[in-house]
Amino acid sequence: MYVVMIAAECAPVAKVGGLADVVFGLSRELEMRGHAVEIVLPRYDCMRDDQVWGLQVTHRDLHVPWNGGTITCTVWFGFVHGRKCFFIEPHSQQAFFDRGAYYGFQDDPERFAFFSKAALEFLLVAGKRPDVIHTHDWQTALVPVLLYEMYAGAGLANQRVCHTIHNFRHQGVTHAGILQATGLGRPEYFGAPDRMGDDLDHHAINLTRGAILYSNFVTTVSPHHAWEVRHTDLGYGLGNVLHKYQDKFGGILNGLDYEMWNPETDPHVASHFSAAHPAGKRGNTDALRSRMLLRDAARPILAYVGRLDTQKGLHLIRHAIFYALHHDAQFVLLGSGAEQGINEDFWHLKRRLNDHPDCHLEVGYDEELAHLIYAGADLLVMPSLYEPCGLSQMIALRYGTVPVVRNVGGLRDSVFDWDFSERPRAERNGFVFEHADNAGLESALSRAFGLWHNEPQLFRQLVAQGMACDYSWNHPGGHYVDVYEFIRHK
Ligand code: ADP
Repeated sequence: MYVVMIAAECAPVAKVGGLADVVFGLSRELEMRGHAVEIVLPRYDCMRDDQVWGLQVTHRDLHVPWNGGTITCTVWFGFVHGRKCFFIEPHSQQAFFDRGAYYGFQDDPERFAFFSKAALEFLLVAGKRPDVIHTHDWQTALVPVLLYEMYAGAGLANQRVCHTIHNFRHQGVTHAGILQATGLGRPEYFGAPDRMGDDLDHHAINLTRGAILYSNFVTTVSPHHAWEVRHTDLGYGLGNVLHKYQDKFGGILNGLDYEMWNPETDPHVASHFSAAHPAGKRGNTDALRSRMLLRDAARPILAYVGRLDTQKGLHLIRHAIFYALHHDAQFVLLGSGAEQGINEDFWHLKRRLNDHPDCHLEVGYDEELAHLIYAGADLLVMPSLYEPCGLSQMIALRYGTVPVVRNVGGLRDSVFDWDFSERPRAERNGFVFEHADNAGLESALSRAFGLWHNEPQLFRQLVAQGMACDYSWNHPGGHYVDVYEFIRHK
C-alpha cells in the first residue's frame, strides 16, 4: 500500500508531544512491513534541520488558492531517520510557519487550515495518488473535508482517509470564516449542527467534527479511551457524534519505539540488562541512588516521570510521596509543568523534603535522567485522572519497573493487576486501582510494597512478566494495516 501521513508533527524533526512519536513510529513500522510511506509536514523555521538528511527543494511553485488569491509555496524533501518527508513552506505576509514556535498563536486554526489545503494541493499537482491518507488531530482534520468536497472532483477521487485523534481536549473549535478562506464557502451549510457546527458553542465550527464525518475511519490511541470518549465526558462534547459514527470508530493502542527504549543498548543507563539477563538492573538502582543522593537501603524505589499536569492526578502523586516515605519505600520524581503555579508547588515540596534520605524530587525536563529512572526504579506510579494512551507505563514495563496505575484509558489496556486481573496469572504485569482518591491509590501501593518486601521471588516474577510484554509498534502496525485495507476496498 501507498500511505501518505499529513501531520503537524513528526519526531524528532518537529516534536511537541506524543503525536510526533506516533507519526514517526507508525511510519517506520509500515515501511518495515513493505508499504510505501511519505510524510507531509509544514516547513517550520524552528524545526530541527539537523535531523533531516539531504534536505532540498523539490517543488518551487506550488500555488495554493487561499482567501480569494493564491499563496505560493516551496516544497522541500528530506529523510528523517530514513522516513521520506516533504515540508511545505508558504511565502506570504502572514508567515504561517516562521514564528519561532510550533503552536500558540491566535491564528493557529488558519495556519493549519492552510497547511491542510496546501498538502492536498501538493498531492494533486505532484501526481501522488496514495491508497490511504492518514491525518492526525485537529491540525489536519480539514483534509478529509476538503478531499471529499473539492479534491475528489479534481483528481483525488480514489483516496481514502484514516484520521487519528490523539487528544480530545484540542478539537480546532474556530469561526466559519476559515472555510471561506479554503474555498469551501457556504458557512451556513458546513457550519450546520449536523455537519461541522460545534455541539457546545453554536456559533463555532469544529474541525475535528468535520474529520469524524468525512473520514473513512477514525481512531483514537487506545481501545478503552475509544469507549471513554463515547460514554463519559472525556469526549469533550464529541461523544454524540462518535456514537452516531461508531461503526467507523475504534481505538488502537500506540506502540513504543523499541529501538530508542532498549535496556540492552540504552546509552543513558549505567548497566545494560534484558529479560534474559535481569541482574544488570541492580547497577542502575545503585547509580540512581547515588545520582539522587538516596541512602542505600533495602527499600523499593517508587518513581514518577512525566508532565506535572492536573490530568496526571497531581494530588495522588503528592500522596504517593508521603505514603512511600511512611511505608519503608523511597521516592524519586522527575517532572515539569506548563503552569507556573504547579511547578512552584513542587519546588516547595522539594525544598521541604530536601534532606530526606529516601526522597528526591527533580523539577524540570531531563531526557537522560528519565532513562536512568526507568532503569533503576522498582515501581512507577501513574495515578492519571485520564490517559488516552500513556507511554511511561510501557517504558517502565520494558525496563523491568512495575507500573502502579489507575484503571483509565490506555493504562487499562496495557497494565493488568497482579491480584485481581481477569487475565491468566502469567500475563499480569502491575498493580491497578479504580478510584482517584487516597484510599484507591493506597490499595495498590500497599500490595506493591508488600510483594516487594515479603515475596521477593514473586516480585521478580512480576518484573519478568512485565518485561516479556510486547508493546512495540508490531501489533499496532498490524491493526492500522487492517484499518487501511478495510477502507481501501470500500
Ligand atoms: P503525555 O503524552 O501525556 O505527556 P505519556 O506517558 O504518553 O504522557 O508520555 C510522556 C513521555 O514524556 C514519556 O516518554 C516520558 O518519559 C517523557 N517525559 C515527560 N516528562 C518528562 C520530564 N520531565 N523529563 C524527561 N522525560 C519526560
